[in-house]
Amino acid sequence: MLLSTNKIEYVLFHLKQHISTNALNDSCYVVLNEHEEICPEIQNKVVFLLSDAGTPAPQSVEFMGEEIPILFPLGPSQLDLYRMDERGNLIFGFDFLSSVFYLLSGLQELEVSQRDRYGRFPYACSLQNKLGCAHLPLVNYYMEMVIRGLEEFEKHQNCSVHRKRLFQNFGFLLSHDVDRISFHHPFRILFKIKQLLGLAPLQNSRKTTFKLFLKGIAFQLNPFRNQDPWWNFDWITNLEKRLGIRSTFFFLKQEDRFDNSLYKFHFKRISDLIKVLKEEGFEVGLHGTMRSAADGDNMLQQRDELTKVLGEAPAGIRQHYLRFFHPSTFQLQEKAGLIYDTSLAFAEQDGYRNGYCFPFHPYDFENDRMMKIWEIPLVMMEVSVLQYRKEGFEEIRKSVFHYIREARKFNGLFSLLWHNCRMSEYEYGGVTVFYQDLLKAIVEEGAEVVTGKKLIEEKMELNKNDFSGI
Ligand SMILES: [Zn+2]
Repeated sequence: MLLSTNKIEYVLFHLKQHISTNALNDSCYVVLNEHEEICPEIQNKVVFLLSDAGTPAPQSVEFMGEEIPILFPLGPSQLDLYRMDERGNLIFGFDFLSSVFYLLSGLQELEVSQRDRYGRFPYACSLQNKLGCAHLPLVNYYMEMVIRGLEEFEKHQNCSVHRKRLFQNFGFLLSHDVDRISFHHPFRILFKIKQLLGLAPLQNSRKTTFKLFLKGIAFQLNPFRNQDPWWNFDWITNLEKRLGIRSTFFFLKQEDRFDNSLYKFHFKRISDLIKVLKEEGFEVGLHGTMRSAADGDNMLQQRDELTKVLGEAPAGIRQHYLRFFHPSTFQLQEKAGLIYDTSLAFAEQDGYRNGYCFPFHPYDFENDRMMKIWEIPLVMMEVSVLQYRKEGFEEIRKSVFHYIREARKFNGLFSLLWHNCRMSEYEYGGVTVFYQDLLKAIVEEGAEVVTGKKLIEEKMELNKNDFSGI
C-alpha cells in the first residue's frame, strides 16, 4: 500500500508506545517499495518494504502460539518475519507499516459502504469477520514482530531498544452507559399495554409482559416503594468501592423522543448522582446522543449541559448505540474539546475493531494527519453477548478471560461495558451474583484499574513526552 510520510509517522508513533529506541530516528530507517532495489549505499539501516497491493491479501504465520494473518505480505513465498543482510541492514519480510495502518486507522470503514439501520459499520462486513480474528489484537502482534526484529538489529548495531510497559500486568477499564434509569417508567408501562394489545412487538412472553405490567402499576401506586430496579447506582458503586474499582459512567440526555434516554442532566436526582460519583472518584463522561454522531452543534450543546452539572468539562465520550462515522465523528468530538472517545467496538461482536488493545490516535483521512483525540478501544459489552449473540453468562466469563489473556500478553488494556439496566434480576436472573463474582475475579487476576481520564492523563500523555526526545 502506498503510504504518505504522515501515515508512516503515524505507525511509528504508535510503535514508540511500546519501545524507546534510537533505531527509528529519521536517519536510521528507510522505506522502499517492495520491488525497489536495496542499493549498496543502504547500510546498517532498518528497511521497511511497502507492498504493491492496494487491498489486504492476508498470509498467516504462526506467532506466539496463534495463527496471525498479516494483511500485506511481500511476495507469495515470504516466510521470514525479518532478516539481517550482509550490509548490516534489518529487512522486514512483511509490510508491517501497511498492515498496522490499515487496521489501526480504520481504513476498512472508508472502503466498505454498507451500514446497518443505525448507520454503523457492520461486523459482518469487516475483515475481522472474514478472517475470524476479531478476538486477536492483530496490531499488537504486528508490533511485537517488528520489535523482535529491532531487538535482533540491536545485537548487531550500536543502537538501543528498550521495551516500555503501559501496565505492569494488564489494565482494566470498566464503564457503564446510563441509557435507562427507570424500569417502571410510566412510558414503559404504557408501552406494555401496546405490546399486550398487539400494537408493538413483544420482548418477553405475553404472560411475563402482563406480570411486568402489573408490577409496574403496583410500583407506581405504592407510596412506600423501594428503588426502581434500574436506579441501582448505590449497589454498583458500593460493589466497586469494596473491590477497589473506580469506573466511568457515561450519561445520555433525553432527545428525539425515545431514541435516547428519558432524563436530562439537570434533573435533580441525575445532577445529585453525578456530584456523588465525582466526589467518590468515579469518572463522569458524555454518552453522545444518536444525533450527536453527525451533528457538531448538537454535540457542543450536550457537552456544555453536562459541564454545567459536573462543574468541569467531561474528558471522555461514548456514542450511544456505538453510532459512529469514521472519521467525521472524531472530528466533531475533537472540536468539542473532548480528550478521548471510547466507542470503537463492533456492536454485534466483542473483540478488536481496530486490532489494538492500547489507546491510540485516530487518523483523519481528509487532512492526512494523526488526530489529537485519543481512542480507548472498547473490547466487550454485555449486550453483544446477551442480546446479539443470544448467549449466557458462561460465555461472557469465558470471553472476559480470553481478553484478559490477550491484554496481559502485551501489558495492554481490557475494557468492559456493563449497562446499569442489565443488572436487574427482573430480567436477568442470577446477574447480580455473576457480575460481582466476575469483577472480583478480574481484580484477582492482577488488573490495574483505570478510568478513561486517568489512563489518558496519567499514562498516555506522560508517555507522549517521552517520545519527543527520541
Ligand atoms: Zn447507550
